[in-house]
Amino acid sequence: MRKLALAISLVVTGTAIPTVQADTVYTGDRVQGVPVISQLDIADLEPGKMHRFMFQGATDGIGQFFYVPVIVAKGAQPGTKLVFNSGNHGDEVNGIRAVQKIMDGIDPARLSGSVVAVPGTNPNAINRITREWTTYNSGGTSTNFNRLFPGKENGTGPEQHAWLLWNKLWQGNVEYAFDFHSQATGHDSPFFIYADYRDPRIERIAELFPVDQIKKDPGEKGSLETTFVENSIPAITLELGPPRGFNTDMVDRAVEGARNVMINLKMIEGKIGRTAITMDAFVGDKTTMIRAEQGGYNEPLVAPGDQVKKGQIVARQLNMFGDTIKEYTAPVDGKVLSIGSDAAREPRATLVRLMTQSPDA
Ligand SMILES: [Zn+2]
Repeated sequence: MRKLALAISLVVTGTAIPTVQADTVYTGDRVQGVPVISQLDIADLEPGKMHRFMFQGATDGIGQFFYVPVIVAKGAQPGTKLVFNSGNHGDEVNGIRAVQKIMDGIDPARLSGSVVAVPGTNPNAINRITREWTTYNSGGTSTNFNRLFPGKENGTGPEQHAWLLWNKLWQGNVEYAFDFHSQATGHDSPFFIYADYRDPRIERIAELFPVDQIKKDPGEKGSLETTFVENSIPAITLELGPPRGFNTDMVDRAVEGARNVMINLKMIEGKIGRTAITMDAFVGDKTTMIRAEQGGYNEPLVAPGDQVKKGQIVARQLNMFGDTIKEYTAPVDGKVLSIGSDAAREPRATLVRLMTQSPDA
């Protein structure tokens, strides 16, 4: 498409001056002192420097913009283009802290390539500490923002916001993508990664993180990870344990993994730290969800990362008198990938999620 446009311009004008396809577009506004952009093209940013922007997203019900903070480390030398993203789900704050600390550790003067960091894509949900983007059209809707990519130009607010991020922030600026999440409110897990192992580049970047577990996964339609993968850009989703508060161990391991990736891709110099190999991470390809069959308090009997045996009692529900009303056993041998950590559990709520490895995989 771009080559064609250039060819046409050559025919018409007879000059070799290429048509400018993208630029960083400054709106002229500033938000809290930070310049607002409606489009990013890292090619025109000054090399060897750190840049901060507010990216202009969709509008709310009174016509004001949702702003997304963006930090760009533009290396002094050319190289690979990475994006570290976070905050698609508003209650998953470990990813936001990880992205901030990754950028703190980068010296653009010693960087080859570029790193685009987004500490929070979804201001609607982040400000409410909710997983979903809430609208009030037709009395209110709740939308999983991480199933809307690549978005819709003329869609709902969150669909437009996803479209703007995809087309105006990422497009042309990304060769590898890392989307940081954690568990949703009421859940807990170890540090794990969803990775599509059908692409060996994805396997390589996943195993550079010092995680506890890796789920080989074909992806989820509309997620940021899968949308990148469908566009031939290697991407992984990282799950940094519990939601709502900063967990230093999870955050620091995410930062260490990001540094390993930059060393491996020859963007910075240094020695690879801990990886999935040194953590002896469990790699599985199948999960089994044990859900509450009725409502009731959940007494946790296993912890994230535990190895359980088929037939072992892994969860127990209590009524308000403290009587056991239901016990749940593991249907297979497996590793505990996540648990429902809130006591009150409605029917169908997660109690325990197990991961296993197929014998032939
Ligand atoms: Zn999430």
